[in-house]
Amino acid sequence: MSQVNQVKLGAEFIADTPHRVSHDRCLWEARMRRDRTASRIPEWEEMRALASQIKLHTLSHLDSYLSRFEEKLTANGIHVHWAEDAEAHNRIVYEIFRSHGVKTVTKGKSMLMDECGMREYLSERGIDIYEADLGERIQQLDNQRPSHIVMPAIHKLRGDVARLFADKLGSDPDIDDPHYLNSVMREHMRKHYINADAGMSGVNFGVAETGTIVVATNEGNADISANVPPLYVASMGIEKLIPRQSDLALFIRLLSRSALGFDITQYTSHYTRPRHGQEMHLVIVDNGRSARLGSQYYEVLKCIRCGACMNTCPVFRRTSGLSYDAPYMGPIGIVLQPSYDLHRYARLPYSCTHCGSCMNVCPVKVPIPHYVFLWRTEIVERGEDELMHRTEETAMALALRNSTNLSHAERLGLWALRNLPKSLLESRLNPWATHHTNPEPPQETFRQYYKRTTKK
Ligand code: SF4
Repeated sequence: MSQVNQVKLGAEFIADTPHRVSHDRCLWEARMRRDRTASRIPEWEEMRALASQIKLHTLSHLDSYLSRFEEKLTANGIHVHWAEDAEAHNRIVYEIFRSHGVKTVTKGKSMLMDECGMREYLSERGIDIYEADLGERIQQLDNQRPSHIVMPAIHKLRGDVARLFADKLGSDPDIDDPHYLNSVMREHMRKHYINADAGMSGVNFGVAETGTIVVATNEGNADISANVPPLYVASMGIEKLIPRQSDLALFIRLLSRSALGFDITQYTSHYTRPRHGQEMHLVIVDNGRSARLGSQYYEVLKCIRCGACMNTCPVFRRTSGLSYDAPYMGPIGIVLQPSYDLHRYARLPYSCTHCGSCMNVCPVKVPIPHYVFLWRTEIVERGEDELMHRTEETAMALALRNSTNLSHAERLGLWALRNLPKSLLESRLNPWATHHTNPEPPQETFRQYYKRTTKK
């Protein structure tokens, strides 16, 4: 598979001014709301530290918590399945559906199912999946992956949605009023909600103590999928576990405030057993998580998928999630995706300015900037870096080897600045010059100036 070139894809989004401006504004508003709501809670920083510790504790005792979780789920009448990888996950889900004669499914939002490529897998086998989340359904109709883990269609303008609905659902292309667009989608989806043979959702938290799965949404889409059809299948990564019911409130308080700056998600549903007359399954998925747990990047498993790191990231806000061309995008994506396929995602860790803002807002303190450095090191060591980066790094290593080399490099650089033609210095070879004018070069290097002035 070819490498994802986030810089190129991001540049296309940057060039599209109306979309870029709207995207940047919406995400920055979410970030500012997050700051305001967090500032109203005096113990906010203690909450973040505690959440990080609970996650680290759970991850370091994951085997015993997973066994306890399974025991409780089974005792509560939920069928438990274990999937080692994406293929196993999809096969298990398909087998459940095949044995029940399922043809249509409504599905709440789930990054894990996107990660596994489940929708495509099931659709190739004759099972139609209807996304129940509005943003996800918009993206599904447009044949695009989600561009944000909480706001899947945030890169679109209202006019884009109006045109898409007109094309796919026969609505009026000239009306981009959100109420109208919502009503079009409601009418379109109602029959699918009522007639679906099965429902699916992801899981935000699994409580080991009680065998409860907790799903948080703002539209109730997971609840419709879980409650209306006679069969409900949920999928959960092994890292979603927390030990006790009493730990849950902390994560619920952090999740919505970090994600959108709201005090709480509209729907926080707890599923402990199937409702009367319903069959319920939970697929617990590894898909590389155990390997990640044993690696230096293990703290990525603390992530609760709130999207706060995306809302604050200056690169993400200007380039949009689609430019990462990956299931996970933005700051968490650039440190997660290389562990799925190092070659394909080797350029992503370079899409970072090292401002450190992601780490400052992350409710569970995932050390993203630190991992960016680690990935860049690993990428170079494994020969997956770009030729240009390698050349620059080799040249820098030579220049920085000792002060004599550095002094020669400084003089050479100054000579080049003073003597090379402007057409070359400000050509496409120097992207910096696209938006800047080179400053007037000095007569001497700083080293020469320092020597001259301190001798006097
Ligand atoms: S890394 Fe932190 S801020 Fe980013 S999505 Fe995960 S929990 Fe949220």
